[in-house]
Amino acid sequence: MPPRRPPTDLDLISVFKMLTPNEQLVASKMSPRCAILVRAANRRVKTLVITALNNDESHHLKDSIDSFSLASKPIMQQLKAIPGETFPDYPMTTHLSEWNILRLDQLRLIDTATIEQIVTIFSAVTDLKFITIGSRHIDALVSLLQHPNWQCQLTNLMVEGTFRMDSQLAGELIPAINGLTALQLLVLDWDDYSEVPDLPILAQLKTVVFSSNHLSTFLRSLERNAADNAHLEVHLLSDDTETLLTLSQPLRSRVVRYGWAPLYYTADQVPLLISQFRSLTSLEIHGFESTHVGPLFTDLSQLPQLIHLKFGIDFSEVKEDELPLPARPLVQLNSVRALELRLRINSHSQVEWLNLSQTMPNLKTIYIDYFRCVSCKVELGVCRRESSLLSSPPALGCFRSFLFNLHPGVRLKRFILSSNYEFKSAEELLLQSR
Ligand SMILES: [Zn+2]
Repeated sequence: MPPRRPPTDLDLISVFKMLTPNEQLVASKMSPRCAILVRAANRRVKTLVITALNNDESHHLKDSIDSFSLASKPIMQQLKAIPGETFPDYPMTTHLSEWNILRLDQLRLIDTATIEQIVTIFSAVTDLKFITIGSRHIDALVSLLQHPNWQCQLTNLMVEGTFRMDSQLAGELIPAINGLTALQLLVLDWDDYSEVPDLPILAQLKTVVFSSNHLSTFLRSLERNAADNAHLEVHLLSDDTETLLTLSQPLRSRVVRYGWAPLYYTADQVPLLISQFRSLTSLEIHGFESTHVGPLFTDLSQLPQLIHLKFGIDFSEVKEDELPLPARPLVQLNSVRALELRLRINSHSQVEWLNLSQTMPNLKTIYIDYFRCVSCKVELGVCRRESSLLSSPPALGCFRSFLFNLHPGVRLKRFILSSNYEFKSAEELLLQSR
């Protein structure tokens, strides 16, 4: 038997690469040699997720990690998968695995030495996602952002889960963010109840995603700092439409995405929003009556760059044997390529009225968030065993007709359905229900 040779540096590096970030922290404390080799094992690691959530809370991780990113939506993934289809570069998405999550709750101590160790080991990180709950470990995030190595290196930062943020901590976090000299993308999920301190960093960013149901202080910060930043793209996830409408020109033209939280159709706000924010590429509007569809399409036709649209229609006020015929045909929306729909219909034939193959001739993918056909008793998009719902021939018939009527030009595999919080193509679901 040949004598066992001691592990070489390369052997150890490949071992360290197979450890989780938390294990790597432990390993790097074993000896100075291990510290160097753990660092070498991470020299190509660009993305790190740091979470303050504990084990019980961490099932939320999967939901929150990309919730701000349009690119991570199943419908946009489908669109991207079609050869030749592109859409503007939306915020980063992360493939979440135990190899890129550092769990703060598993560290015995988070002191200056630990912060130094994290920054030293993950010396190449440019994308940082920090997921917290409330204000937990915001102090650690502040120290990480203030570390000279990361301060001039981070290009993308996401902070998610702040809730009832302590104002003193907010007063430390925002200046730390403002000090990031290389930052280009900032995703900030901000507590609805506290004001966001001033963000001079907006002057240098390429993209900012801001999520909060109080937009007032953020928009004033935008006015103060971003007036000369012509390249900035603003994504707003909020239901504070009233405040959004107070944003001055030319900053309105920087807003490319608005949605997420419900914007209910009101006769005055939606037309006003659309007429003032002509650069929108993505817009989400939630449930309204079928009689609003005609005016809505006319309004939407003023958005030449609109790629992604989400809306919901309730046909329940229309009798089953009637169609809500518009006075004029619906206006064509040529730019829309990805459509998300919530639909409540009395009969599956009612969707024919939308005539999507004519009104949205360039549509490539459709995502059905919720679908209910009252007369056929078919309901999709609620947490149930939906495949069994589709197993009866009448339900299957309704569902098939509904899909074909909705847009004959979009193939069944590009109809994505939300089913038990999983995403399936209509093709898969129909095959499964046989
Ligand atoms: Zn039906």
